[in-house]
Amino acid sequence: MQGEKKERWMELAEKAAVEQDPAKLLELITELNKLLLEKEQRLGMKTTLTIRCPTCGAAPGKKCELTDGQPRADSHRDRRLIAKDPKS
Ligand SMILES: [Zn+2]
Repeated sequence: MQGEKKERWMELAEKAAVEQDPAKLLELITELNKLLLEKEQRLGMKTTLTIRCPTCGAAPGKKCELTDGQPRADSHRDRRLIAKDPKS
């Protein structure tokens, strides 16, 4: 994704930097906020799934499982923590 065309949130940030109308500025910031949050969640999810889960043993690329084998909506806490900071 890097080096490709400019991402939408960057465009918004540039517009917000020069926007004079407070109402429009608020609108821009609100959308920017939303986009960044979504982006963060996307990236977080992706990173978490690249490592094996220490709690349930789910393989890289696989979702965490509940004890009955059903996929969990969220990854286990430890997996997310390790994915966030692999060095610790
Ligand atoms: Zn797990």
